[in-house]
Amino acid sequence: MCGIFGIRGHGDAAAIVQLGLYSLQHRGQESAGIVAVDETGAARARRTMGLVSEGFSEQDMAALPGSLAIGHTRYSTAGSSSIDNAQPVLARSRGGHISLAHNGNLTNATELRNELEAQGSIFASTMDSEVLVHRIARSNATTPAGRLADALEGVDGAYCLLVVMGDTMLVARDPRGWRPLVIGRLGDAVVVASESCALDIVGATYERDVEPGEIVTFDGQGMHSHGRTNGKELRRCVFEYVYFARPDSFIWGGSVDRARRSLGRQLAIEQPAPTAELVFSVPDSANSAALGYAEESGLPLELALIRNHYVGRTFIHPNQSGRDAKVRVKYNAVREVLDGKSVVMVDDSIVRGTTTRGLVAMVRGAGAREVHMRVSSAPITGPCYYGIDTPSREDLIAANLSIEQIAAHIGVDSLGYLSLDGMLRAVPGGPSGFCHACFSGDYPTPPPSDPNKLRFGCGC
Ligand code: 5GP
Ligand code: SF4
Ligand code: MG
Repeated sequence: MCGIFGIRGHGDAAAIVQLGLYSLQHRGQESAGIVAVDETGAARARRTMGLVSEGFSEQDMAALPGSLAIGHTRYSTAGSSSIDNAQPVLARSRGGHISLAHNGNLTNATELRNELEAQGSIFASTMDSEVLVHRIARSNATTPAGRLADALEGVDGAYCLLVVMGDTMLVARDPRGWRPLVIGRLGDAVVVASESCALDIVGATYERDVEPGEIVTFDGQGMHSHGRTNGKELRRCVFEYVYFARPDSFIWGGSVDRARRSLGRQLAIEQPAPTAELVFSVPDSANSAALGYAEESGLPLELALIRNHYVGRTFIHPNQSGRDAKVRVKYNAVREVLDGKSVVMVDDSIVRGTTTRGLVAMVRGAGAREVHMRVSSAPITGPCYYGIDTPSREDLIAANLSIEQIAAHIGVDSLGYLSLDGMLRAVPGGPSGFCHACFSGDYPTPPPSDPNKLRFGCGC
């Protein structure tokens, strides 16, 4: 996944973007980048592997002058972790520049890329997003919006795009609206961001969402909507509400905190745990759902697992090996809370089951008498082709084992998932208009001909 953030009309644009990216760090920790455009029209880029907090020195920021800037945080699959794939992309074409930041995943990127390569195009990265830059560069339309609309013709899949051509900033959202994108104001400046929490950190006020299929331009004449392409059913990613977005964000008009609490409440209704004495969450992603479960069930909410926030994503201590090592580095159990108790452990999702199995062992090791696992989403039975980095079917535990077999594998006394219907009814604006393909198998597009994300996906 990825986070995107842009601002036009602010004297310190790059610094504001950097601040915005801090709030979008959860959407991608692999690399980060900022492109700034100064008053003479010169565009400069700084891209870095790793975190926003580590990648931009004062000197780097001073070298990004201008009142227009866009930025990106990127999460990628392991094999494509390279600075060449960091965004925003910055390319020069016909005496001007085009820069682009993308959140999502194109499902026909391979075909589009083959077509371009057959016509002589060469690529500097393995990202699907670079295909879009080529298509913009080839358009003969006379306006930035026209060029972007040309480039998006025949492109399928999920995208929220932030593009700069000259001194025009543009945003586009795919017609099915898979990913969130909001527009805000900061004084006279206009701000766009993947989630509203990034407006909060810079002090901007929310104005509206970018609509599915809409292209919006921001230039010297102000903000202008270029209408919507229709004909596609709305398919917002329900997993944004379940896991991905931050609970302090509003997306698609709904509070993520409220969505997760409501998922937790519905879970308590569908999957009670009559013998349990307390509830706790697997922090941090399941905190709000566990609160909802506690509210509905009347059980006390306890803090039974402590997460270490200072561990990098890839850190494994050389002296620790084996399956549970990563879990022990990231979490510890609170014996005082768990000893002798029958407990409900709430998590938002189970993907491979590896972390969950390690956590259950840890909770039992701290004295829990009975462990009842409750999951605030339906079982994940298929991969995502639209930007979330779920593994292929072979590695998804619920695609291969029954609920009883999963319970035995992770070592719990009982296991209960939220139903698909219950999940879709619990989220704001549900139950229709959502993508739930990884839970239901109901994919809104044909699967990509080359689902090998290591090669072409931005994995974003
Ligand atoms: P598992 O037991 O499947 O190994 O891990 C389950 C945990 O993975 C849950 O706590 C859930 O919040 C988390 N999770 C779900 N989706 C993702 C994802 O796309 N990326 C990461 N890093 N964690 C995820
Ligand atoms: Fe979201 Fe799942 Fe659809 Fe991917 S397949 S967009 S994770 S609901
Ligand atoms: Mg989690």
